[in-house]
This record gives sequence, C-alpha cells and structure tokens, in this order.
Amino acid sequence: MKKGKPTPFDIESFIICPNCSHRITKKTKGFFCRNCKSHYPYVKSIPLLIKIEDHHKLNEADYNSSVSKIYRQLHQLGSYRNTYFHLRSLKPILGLDANSKVLELGCGTGYDAGFLFQKGLIVVETDISVGQVLEAKKQLAKRGFMNSNFFYVADAENIPFADESFNATFITATLHHLEHPVKALSEMRRCTEKGGIIVIAMEPNRYEWILVIGFGFSIMKKILLTVLGKRFAKKLKARTKDWREPNIEKTFSKKEILTLVKKAGLNPQKIKGIWFTCGFIHWVITLLNKTTKKTWYLNKDIEEFLVLFDDLIARVPLINHFACNWTLFCKRD
Ligand SMILES: [Zn+2]
Repeated sequence: MKKGKPTPFDIESFIICPNCSHRITKKTKGFFCRNCKSHYPYVKSIPLLIKIEDHHKLNEADYNSSVSKIYRQLHQLGSYRNTYFHLRSLKPILGLDANSKVLELGCGTGYDAGFLFQKGLIVVETDISVGQVLEAKKQLAKRGFMNSNFFYVADAENIPFADESFNATFITATLHHLEHPVKALSEMRRCTEKGGIIVIAMEPNRYEWILVIGFGFSIMKKILLTVLGKRFAKKLKARTKDWREPNIEKTFSKKEILTLVKKAGLNPQKIKGIWFTCGFIHWVITLLNKTTKKTWYLNKDIEEFLVLFDDLIARVPLINHFACNWTLFCKRD
C-alpha cells in the first residue's frame, strides 16, 4: 500500500454484530443489525462496535483515554529498547506479503501498527478506549498512513469481525488488562485464517518473590504516609492522578500463559522471554516520568548495550525464566 492510496480491502463487509454475530449494515448514523435490531453509533467518527451490556467497559477504559496524549512518553515508546523488542515481536507478521490483512487488539496509540503500515500491510486498529483509537488515527495519519475505515472501538473479548477475516492478529501488552483473557484469545483464533499468525506480545511475567517485595512496599508506603501526614498524601495523590493504572492488571508465569493460550485452542510454536535489565530500566524510568512529570530517556548507546546483554541472557536456561515479559508466537491450525 502506498501512502495515502486507498486499498481495495473492503473491511466493512467483514463486520459482524457483536451481539448476535450476524452481518451488519452501514447506515448514516452508524451500523445496524437487522437480526437483533442492535444499533452501533459512531463516536467522533469512529464506529462503536460494542454490545450494549458491555458499555460499562468503555467507562473503565477512560483511564486509557485520559492518558492517550502522553502514552508515548509515559511508556517511552520512542526508546531504542522498545523499538527493538516490539519489532522482534512483530517479526513473523512483518514477513507477510504486502496487503496482507492484520488485526490489532488494544491498539493504544498505534505504535506497532506504524511498523506494519510501513511494510505495506493493511492493519485494522481496535481498542476499547475511544480516546486511544482517536489518538492512533491521528498519529498514523500524521505519518501518512491513513484509511479512516481501519479504526474501530471494539472489545477484544467480543471481536466484531467474521471468522477468518485476517491473515494475522496480534495483541501487545493488553491481555493482562482483560477480565477474560481466554475469551479474547479464542476470539483471536476465530478471526484468523487457517495457517495465519497470532502473536501475543509483551505480557508481564509473574514472579512469586515480587509479591513479597510488593507487600514490603505497601507497608513502607503506609508508614511513610502516616509519618508525612494526610496533607502530603492528598498532594501526592493529586499529582499522580493522571497516571492511574487500569483496573485489571494480571501477571502470568510462563506455565500460566502457556495454559491460557492452549485453553483458547491455540498452539504456541514459540515463547520468548523478553526484557531483563531493560525491564528494570523501564520500570525505573516510568516511575521517574510519573513522579517528576518530565520525559526521561536513557542514552542510546547504553540501551544498545543492555539490549545485547538481555538477548544474551535470554539464551541461558533457567535464567530466562526471569524475563519481565513473554511474547508468544502461534500458528492458527
Ligand atoms: Zn445482532
């Protein structure tokens, strides 16, 4: 796909009703299902393809909407380590022929889609947060990758696209925010064609010993707040108000995430441990960004060294269980 050139892919013919799975038709004010009479309106020009009873999830996603403009800085998406490891997670999809159809769930601000668009792939961007989808559309348009039909507010646990609509589907750093991850994974499987690629990228590892440290931190926090007083606690709360973390945040041990994927009927071909020292650095810089409200970046040469080092220890058996994140590559059978 050349920049700005419309593609022949008619995504709208693949849209199904999130409520009853029948094909839905486009009307002037949104999409309409003749079968169950559900209406799906546009919100700020983005189709809202969410079941009525799941509308509460939109409010829960407000967190993401509120930080959509600072998301890139908060997660240091422009850093070398992020580019390197995101590209690595996307590698099998990047190898697909141009004009292959790819679905992203939890697209955030469209960071990963940018890499795929550059390769000429057709990427359909979805997220449960209206603010994030709007920001993704804006960011990608700025870079010249634009087709307004490729952006939808959708629930990963109830994907509004027909069976086998895509050559590949992927989800990055989002599964741990979902209430029913197996449901989302099954939906990814359903929407991907046979032999297609499914990538579950950058999901946080669960270390049992982190719970102990976490418990220590919560006690320390209580002591500090008691010593410093209520006024200080209020001030700190106000200062970090914009940085609230989403409600559901899970972590998965290697065994746990493999079990989830298999439960969804997927066959994981490879699981990679990603981020060791980089994960620690990322955590420290995110904390700095949150508390100082400045954008901190690490020197690129240091990052390059840490990435090399992380790549090396990822090959060491046992030690690779200490990765910060997991990326899984599956082939739809
Ligand atoms: Zn319907």
